[in-house]
Amino acid sequence: MFQLLIPKQERRNIMQKAHDLAISGHGGVLRTQNRIKERFYWPSWENDVRKYVLSCDICQRVKAINETPNAPLTIIESNFPFQIIQSDIAGEFNESYSGNKWLLVLVDHFSKWADVHAMPDAKALTVAQHIIKAILKFGIPDEILTDQGKH
Ligand SMILES: [Zn+2]
Repeated sequence: MFQLLIPKQERRNIMQKAHDLAISGHGGVLRTQNRIKERFYWPSWENDVRKYVLSCDICQRVKAINETPNAPLTIIESNFPFQIIQSDIAGEFNESYSGNKWLLVLVDHFSKWADVHAMPDAKALTVAQHIIKAILKFGIPDEILTDQGKH
């Protein structure tokens, strides 16, 4: 097996091709090292490849996404009506005769009663006004669960 001795100015290019190209698929340190040692050599090549792969911008972004842990699932218990309200927003729908395009859906966790509010928009202020309307009707809940959407 012959290995090509790579001059300094070409090393980065070789590492790029062994790691970044679509066919290389941003492999890990070992995979990229294996690919390089098949044909190339230079002093400290292993270390250079490790540094190159570990500092790859794309790899770090993908890794950050893949490593976001899911919150553990927990059982939610409620003991009486309107103790816990689940809320979500549905839309955007075709505009109604009264100018509404969005729905705020509030569901009582205990009874599964759904309180649905038609809204012209899904802005935070509008949503808050409708949540207050529901609270005036049913009382103050201990908890309001949301999907943490931007509304
Ligand atoms: Zn990469």
